[in-house]
Amino acid sequence: MSTPISYRDIKDQGSFAFEPIQYGFSEMGIPLTYFPPSDDCRLLVFAGIHGEEPETTFLLSRALRCLFCPPRHVAIVLCANPDGMLRGTRGNAHGVDLNRNFPALNWSSEPVLTRLTLESPRETRLSPGGGPQSEAETRALLSLLSTLNPRAVIAMHAPIGCVDCATHSPLVQTLESIFELPWKQGLGYQTPGSFGTWAEEASLDCVTLELPRMALELLAANYAQPFATFIAEFY
Ligand SMILES: [Zn+2]
Repeated sequence: MSTPISYRDIKDQGSFAFEPIQYGFSEMGIPLTYFPPSDDCRLLVFAGIHGEEPETTFLLSRALRCLFCPPRHVAIVLCANPDGMLRGTRGNAHGVDLNRNFPALNWSSEPVLTRLTLESPRETRLSPGGGPQSEAETRALLSLLSTLNPRAVIAMHAPIGCVDCATHSPLVQTLESIFELPWKQGLGYQTPGSFGTWAEEASLDCVTLELPRMALELLAANYAQPFATFIAEFY
């Protein structure tokens, strides 16, 4: 008889009730880790691919710390870009925007133009890398996906505040409901070599969850528990 999914009924959520395993190293040599599901992987959720979006890692961590045992079908990467997170940079240690480093057909060697805030002009330059999957973090995530073979992926970003996906799938509708966010089809600008573009070409369902612009405590208070329930009960 399998162990039923249960939730922590105690106040202390300071640490994880289960352990991550390693799937590679960052360019600076930091271990890349993920929390495996207890059964087959049907969904991968990753956060922190942009080091300037620490709220994604924080909220996913808070949700995971609500769980008393590993999710049955969901694998979790808390931080896909630990070098960027440590340095507070959007890119990795090489200044590469990892979300422009995936081997999509439209990968481009042109500099990546990003914004320092939502109101800023798009004039901050990052590198897309020396070529598709030139970066260790990109290759490791691709390898992990190949190993886990999930049917869908949630890529967490911030702070645009929407659920971005080409189709209005049941997964999109669930995330709309949990996070009280609108569905969008694209963000209005080109993203050559992005994870989402690569996933679409690979026929992998990918939803980009853009968290709203909100203080960390409010993000956790509003969304950690419902997100944890979603992760625990996903089938
Ligand atoms: Zn992002």
